[in-house]
Amino acid sequence: MNVPVPLPDELANGYTERLLRLNGYSGATCKSRAFSESNFRKVLPQLSWIEKLARFVGQSPEQFRHQHTMLPFNGAVRAKDLIRWSMSSPQRSPFHYSAGKLNPLGMLACPQCAKEDTAFWGVSYWRRSHQLTGVVWCAKHEAPLMLCDPSAASSLPSEALSRAKPLDRKLVTQAMANVTVRKYAEMCASFLANSRSLSTHQVVHCLQARAATLGIRAHSGVRSSHISRVALQATEGPWQQMFFPDLARAREGAFVDSIDRTYSSRNVAYKAPAYAMAFAVFYDSAEDAFADLDASSALLSPGRPTRDKPANRRSHSALRKHSVDRITGSSEKVQTRIRMAIEAFVDGASIADAASEQRVSEDELREAMRNALRPAFASQQWS
Ligand SMILES: [Zn+2]
Repeated sequence: MNVPVPLPDELANGYTERLLRLNGYSGATCKSRAFSESNFRKVLPQLSWIEKLARFVGQSPEQFRHQHTMLPFNGAVRAKDLIRWSMSSPQRSPFHYSAGKLNPLGMLACPQCAKEDTAFWGVSYWRRSHQLTGVVWCAKHEAPLMLCDPSAASSLPSEALSRAKPLDRKLVTQAMANVTVRKYAEMCASFLANSRSLSTHQVVHCLQARAATLGIRAHSGVRSSHISRVALQATEGPWQQMFFPDLARAREGAFVDSIDRTYSSRNVAYKAPAYAMAFAVFYDSAEDAFADLDASSALLSPGRPTRDKPANRRSHSALRKHSVDRITGSSEKVQTRIRMAIEAFVDGASIADAASEQRVSEDELREAMRNALRPAFASQQWS
């Protein structure tokens, strides 16, 4: 089998298609046949697709995940289980999936990059940096990206671009002219370059210190809509409506879950775009933000226990203790995850977020919390 070297910033999905095509396989139905017939079969069956691909091209899984998947972006900030890209990822783990997760719009490509890549490498290829949520232009060419149809992943960008549609012109023009959106794009690109996820402790430390410097009130656990308010005003327009529709709620003073919790939530991490937005609002550049993040990394050891506010501590600990005591019939690992989900809920996450972060069902989580609360009610501990 002819195995080409993956090109700089080349997306794993696109690379796979290129590899198959180079070896005479084309079309989705051929994919499984290709992998069962080729040397790919000989690679350990328990490895994930990404790990197999890494072995196949002679890279470490770490190197491959870091340079050819969306994992550094999708796993940019994590709560307790920090990811190093070298960690092996079993099929069902969330970061296995996030490694291939793309921009919700679809496949995006830059016509000028495709032209230059064809001239330089002899082939055009899908770049990760064009698939970042909310990034609608090519940073190298300062030109709008083109939206390719859903079948685009199985062709080269140079082919898909002939059928591509331009993104809404007003949306792109607004985004490119907006200082905050530009900083947001810088942050997203910087996440891609990170060699491991940032911890929520690091992020919260930086954002709270920054909020204090800027004279914005920010206390852990305090319901404040400051970040979303600032973000709402700073990015108003079609770009915001497309990528941050929830921000509109900040206009009435509502709390915008993901963005407003970036500076208080240590037990639950939100999606990368929420953090990119928070840093874009609080910092002058991605470089400044990362200088602070690096400095805080030295100060904080990841996974340091969260300090609750004294007023809340008693009820929280009662809830945690009872819930864990009362969870029977679950394996120890599930118990730990349920306990962490309850902690996250107590810290302000929604049931849905807490459950999905810890990979437990919402029903399991609700049941565990009911069990936890019953004794408190029965013994009149509740006030
Ligand atoms: Zn370009």
